[in-house]
Amino acid sequence: MGLRGTKGPLQFLLSTLGIGLLACSGEGVAHPTFRPATERHFEPVAVERASLPEVSATTAAARRAAWTSCHKDAPMVVLVALDGARWHEVFTGVESKRAKAAGVPRDTSAAELMPNLHRIIRSEGAALGAPGVGEPISASGPNYVSLPGYIEMLSGRHETECTSNECGVSRWRSLPDDFAVCGEAAVVSSWPPIARAVGANEAALVSAGKSALRGTLKGTRANALFEQGQRGAPEPGYGDYRADQYTAPLALEILRETRPSFLFVGLGDTDEHAHHNDYPGYLDALRAADRTIGEIDAVLTEQRLTGRETLLLVTSDHGRSHNFSDHGDSKESARVWLVAAGSRVYARGMVAAPEPRYLADLAPSVRAVAGLPPSPDEQGRVLSELFATEDL
Ligand SMILES: [Zn+2]
Repeated sequence: MGLRGTKGPLQFLLSTLGIGLLACSGEGVAHPTFRPATERHFEPVAVERASLPEVSATTAAARRAAWTSCHKDAPMVVLVALDGARWHEVFTGVESKRAKAAGVPRDTSAAELMPNLHRIIRSEGAALGAPGVGEPISASGPNYVSLPGYIEMLSGRHETECTSNECGVSRWRSLPDDFAVCGEAAVVSSWPPIARAVGANEAALVSAGKSALRGTLKGTRANALFEQGQRGAPEPGYGDYRADQYTAPLALEILRETRPSFLFVGLGDTDEHAHHNDYPGYLDALRAADRTIGEIDAVLTEQRLTGRETLLLVTSDHGRSHNFSDHGDSKESARVWLVAAGSRVYARGMVAAPEPRYLADLAPSVRAVAGLPPSPDEQGRVLSELFATEDL
């Protein structure tokens, strides 16, 4: 695929290698095997357990046959990552002590903060990683920073060979690689280095940060939104960072107009505000991300009504340290969360993982659900507690 303007592949890689790196680093720590920490500032949450209906072998075979054909029968998969969004607010709402100190309302529940996400969990999907519900889901580390997390979730590797945000282009086969074979695949992110998690494959459309664009944006509106992002201020990030207010509309436009088989949406304002220790800004970024999730879900629902199968995954690349503003070498910043919904997700509510789960389990799960063969690179396991295991 071509590149926008005069940029060649080398310039594309350089622009994604050198710009917008966050100052996140840490010492190596052991592989995470810990259990959820008890946070005394949070109220216990009422949870409902998942139930998995039986699926007959005939139904499973028919579904598998439908999902293994490319192009018109390919499912539409959307993976949304909220950078550094910790599980606390997602599952238990606003932290009252921190909210009081920041002068914002203290009693906002998780469902009030992120109404679309919780409607999806209740009515059409399920969540892994809620406190006190089963085993945790974590980044594999050993350094809980962004680029290793994105490489892990897109490739299915525990061992990414990347322990910082300064790594080069990933050599592992990624989900955009897989889906580009079966149709359109797109990656749209606020944070520029996410392009390096996609790998060197040129089949997928990539718009990472303000300037890095690989492939061709279709339509005048998508191009206008891209240019708005280029002109917009990078805050709460800096340099080539593209604020979520520009990334989200572009991702939605691509979703609506291109209807890709796979779309990765990387929203980053949560992590940027958290690094500034700006709790109200962090909460606003979560609210904005929830509105985007609601709009994505509406598009996927429309697609399901036309008979196309869909899968929506929402997660984070890492958690946060106890001090909120940092992450990296603290083991608590390994912990993430996952919300899944779609045609093949039969679990509902807060699901108990039977064993520790990892970001590396996302890609094998997506491949299995979409009828794609496992990647030779993947090390994770299918999240069978979310899907009908007879089907996979
Ligand atoms: Zn960070």
